[in-house]
Order: sequence, then C-alpha cells, then structure tokens
Amino acid sequence: MSNDIIVKAVDVTKHFGNFLALDKVNLEVTRGEVSCIIGPSGSGKSTLLRCINLLERLDGGAIWVNNELVGYRREGDRLHEISDVEISQQRRRIGMVFQRFNLFPHMTALENIVEGPVQVLGEPARQARERAETLLERVGLADKKDHYPSELSGGQQQRVAIARAMGMQPDLILFDEPTSALDPELVSEVLDVMRDLASSGMTMIVVTHEMGFARNVANTVTFMEAGKVVETGLASEVLSTPKSARTAEFIKAVQ
Ligand code: ADP
Ligand code: MG
Repeated sequence: MSNDIIVKAVDVTKHFGNFLALDKVNLEVTRGEVSCIIGPSGSGKSTLLRCINLLERLDGGAIWVNNELVGYRREGDRLHEISDVEISQQRRRIGMVFQRFNLFPHMTALENIVEGPVQVLGEPARQARERAETLLERVGLADKKDHYPSELSGGQQQRVAIARAMGMQPDLILFDEPTSALDPELVSEVLDVMRDLASSGMTMIVVTHEMGFARNVANTVTFMEAGKVVETGLASEVLSTPKSARTAEFIKAVQ
C-alpha cells in the first residue's frame, strides 16, 4: 500500500443487532487530505469514524491506518486481534473531535491539552506545557489557558478540543459534526481553526453539514445513506455535479 494512504477502509460492515449500520463501506484518505463525509442522520457516518478510531469493532471488512491493520497486531506472518490496552496504543495516533465538547471538566484549557502528551505519550511536563501554550495561541485562546471548560463558550471549548487533539501529534484527526451543537454565531471561529489546520497539512476526516466548509476546504466528499457509500469523489465534482440523484437532493436540502 502506498505510504501516502493514511486510511483505507475496505468493505467495512457493522451490525447493531439485526440492524446493518455499515454495509460494505469503502474509503481511502491520502496524507494531507481533507475528506468530508456527508449524509442524512442515521446513515452511519459516526459509526464509520468510530470504527476507524477503534471505538467499535468491525463485523466484516478491514481498515488500515498508516498501513497498520486496525484492531490487529502482526506477529511474524500471523495477525492477532489486539486487547483493549493495545487498542488505546493504536488509537493514540488518531485525534478525535466530537459534536459535544468532551473536555475534562475539572481541568483548565491548558491542563486538558497537557494531559494526553504527559500521561499517554510520556512527554516531559514542561515540554508538553510549552507546546500546549503554542497550540492555544494557534487556536486564538492564549488568554484562556487557565479557564475551566464551564468558563468557556461552546466555540472556545471546541477550539480547545481541537488543540487537545493536535497536542497528541496525531497522524490524522477525525471530526464528528464539530460545529453542529454550537450556536450559529460560534460556528465560523471553529471552522476557521479547522481551515488553518487543513492548510498546515493535517489529514482530516470531517463529518459535517457545513457545505461551505466542504466546498472551500475539502479535497474529497463522500455521500453516505443507509449505511452505504452512495458517491465519493473530488469535492468540486460531488458538490457541483453529483452523479447520484440522492446526493443532489441531499446537497440541495442542506444548503
Ligand atoms: P449518523 O452519524 O450518520 O447519524 P450513526 O452512525 O450514528 O449515524 O448511526 C447509524 C445507525 O446505527 C443509526 O440508525 C443508529 O441508530 C444506529 N446505531 C448507532 N450506534 C448504535 C448502537 N450503539 N446501538 C444500536 N444502534 C446504533
Ligand atoms: Mg453522527
């Protein structure tokens, strides 16, 4: 597999009981790419991100992240399913920003960013703090470093969550509707940070209903419906001249 392919999902299938949430989903994301996933509620977008991030186990198919088969470890020429402890090791290369701000409520903005690098990566505290300060500056929150999440707006909390993901120096960051729980006037400050991150070359998979962001920032767009990928391609093509009538209908409805 080419080293430039960061994520490759092949025929990913996931059931919840009898319900088929992902039906042979394929996705490929190259280094530095911004890949937007769009589609109606319940189409399997979050489930796909959760499978990439090992928050769900697959029922079929396979996912590689950075040429590593997700959920498995290679020993010689054999693959072994990995334990929960090893899962957290594999997962640390992947950042995740959720719809609901999931900062640690009892930690300040700075402490939220320092926690992972120190506890998980074993980085020296001083070095982690310095980097966290730089990251807070980058997301425009240098003056809020000692604030607790409850003292920050939703947009500010989400910017801290992005800085926290970056603090782990991940290979890619997954965003699951990062602006959909925000008051409308706070959406653009978060999208601006994401745009900045994209232009710095970070590989990003972004589930979003923000068509402006998809149009201006995404390289590729994938439209999902009922657990299936209906259409995928260059953002400019999928958004302006979709091949599927369902894609066209959806895009028209969310504009
Ligand atoms: P989306 O993010 O596109 O809105 P999801 O991936 O969250 O969709 O969900 C896809 C479908 O799978 C939905 O019908 C949802 O109800 C179902 N689903 C998701 N997670 C679970 C779960 N843990 N148990 C049962 N059903 C689930
Ligand atoms: Mg979702």
